[in-house]
Order: sequence, then C-alpha cells, then structure tokens
Amino acid sequence: MPETELLSADAPGIARAAAILGDGGLVAFPTETVYGLGGDARSDLAVAGIFDAKGRPRFNPLIVHVPDADAARRYVAWSETADRLAGAFWPGALTLVLPLRADHGLSPLVTAELPTLAIRCPAHPVATALLRAADAPLAAPSANPSGRISPTTPDHVLAGLSGRIAAVLDGGACTVGLESTIVGLGHTPTLLRPGGLPAEAIEAALGHPLARRAANDTLTAPGQMASHYAPGARVRLNATEARPGELLLGFGAMECDLNLSPSGDLVEAAANLFGHLHALDARAPAGIAVAPVPMKGLGLAINDRLARAAAPR
Ligand code: AMP
Ligand code: MG
Repeated sequence: MPETELLSADAPGIARAAAILGDGGLVAFPTETVYGLGGDARSDLAVAGIFDAKGRPRFNPLIVHVPDADAARRYVAWSETADRLAGAFWPGALTLVLPLRADHGLSPLVTAELPTLAIRCPAHPVATALLRAADAPLAAPSANPSGRISPTTPDHVLAGLSGRIAAVLDGGACTVGLESTIVGLGHTPTLLRPGGLPAEAIEAALGHPLARRAANDTLTAPGQMASHYAPGARVRLNATEARPGELLLGFGAMECDLNLSPSGDLVEAAANLFGHLHALDARAPAGIAVAPVPMKGLGLAINDRLARAAAPR
C-alpha cells in the first residue's frame, strides 16, 4: 500500500476521506473518545481490511458509527430504553448493543456473526461531517494495532498504522480520551464495558442501576481481553514511587515523571491517559509504575484500561 495520507479536517480533506471510504478503503478519523479506524460497515472487503490492518482477532466485533438515532434504527431493533438513552447521551460516548434487524445489510464480519450490533453516534464534528459525506455506516474500532495503547492524536495513529491504511483525518487531540461506555440492552440494561460516559450518569437517566457483566461472560462482551492497551514496557499499578528503571505516572499532587492530573481531576486524567502512556513508553523504560486512581466516575474506565495494560501477556 502507498504511504498513508494525512488529511486536514476541512471540506476538501473530508471529501477525499469520503471518496476513499466509498472505494472500500480505510480512513482513521477523530471522535471525542479516541481515533477510529473507519471502513464501510456494509462492505466485506472494507471490514476484513480493518481486522487485517489492526491484526484484530475476527471474533472481536466492531462498533458501527452513525450520524444520528434515525440512522441507527435502520440497522437495529430500537426500543424504548434505547430511545431514552440515545435521547439523553447521543451524540456522545455511549455505545448501545441491540438486536440486529433482519434486513440490516451490514457485513456479517462486523458483528463477528452475533445476532446483536454495537452502535454509536459520535459527538466530534469531524466524525459527523465524515459520516454525512460518506453516507455510509462506518465500522470503526480504535485506530491502533490490536492490543496496544489506543490513539488520541493523529501521530499515535501513524506510529501504529502508517502504510497499513489509506489516510488519517487530522482533528487534533481527542477530548474525552477513553473509548465509549458500552451498554447491552437485552433483558436488563447491562454495563458491558466502562468508558468515557460515567456509569452513574446512565443509571441516573434510567432511574435504576445497570446490571454488571459476570467476569466469565464471554458471549455478551467478546473481545474484552484481559491483556489490552499494552505499552511495550511492563506496567505496575497502585505504585507510590518508581523502582529502579521505572518511570512513574502520577495522579494528584506528587513527584512523578508525568501526571494524569495534578489536581486529581478524573476528566483530565481520562483525556491524558493514553497520551501519557504513549509518551512514557517512547522513553523505553524497564517499566511504568502508575499511582492509584480512585474508583468513581471516569475512574472506573481508567482503572479498567490500566488493569488491562498491566495484565500478564
Ligand atoms: P473497540 O471497537 O475496540 O472499542 O471494541 C468494541 C467492543 O465492543 C468489542 O470488544 C466488544 O466487547 C464490544 N461489542 C461489539 N459488538 C458487540 C456485540 N454485538 N455484543 C456485545 N459486545 C459487543
Ligand atoms: Mg480498541
């Protein structure tokens, strides 16, 4: 494949990206959560190309992105709860898992042949413009090699996928910095993956707690692998200081090499998480030690990603 094009997020850049997608090519684009690697979700070729470029296992289904809830209804069996949650949080960092419609017309590779589809309407204006220009549902997992740290800047995307994808749309740094929160809307609304929208906000909109996924439930949340988001260096959690050879990633007021949020703000920490991991890893330390992060609000998702980054490989 020729060199990956870096496109600016203006009208010509978006038109070029849409044309590449229309030809079955792959374009990384900014969303408020992380950069996504987009391909036409109706095209077997494009979707197979996404799995290929990332080295992603085929049993790990993709999230499909649409410009609004009306577009989502075209692919899934909509429900009252879907309507309530989409009404409260779309566009935004919430993915809903709903039964596929019989006439969905998507590539079966997108769902790893599950009868359900994960679907989201992103809030980033460049993502919205691209979805409208391409006039296609876009399958878009994070734009990084499978298992590695997620990308929150175009540089992160190019570092991992340059030469493997047609283009990157440059929308600057992602504001949320964590992947979407995934909620399964089966019998009871279930938190399948913590993410950029705090579970507490969803529970407030529902008026009741979300069910939590059982640790051994591989069917409803395939691809939630133990080891993921992994830097090259070993990661050690709940550290108060660096051991010899380690770099320390801090949280709150403390001495460290990089700080997720000196003031202890979880929103700021989420936005910095992947960028700081990329930056520390680039210094090739023996290990990265990470200070404790509280388990509330976005801390649930931050700790989820850190636990996977630290998991045995
Ligand atoms: P990523 O695109 O890397 O953020 O990962 C998407 C995640 O969404 C997958 O790893 C799955 O855990 C989840 N997912 C996608 N489709 C489904 C589905 N039909 N049912 C349950 N979980 C899903
Ligand atoms: Mg990912």
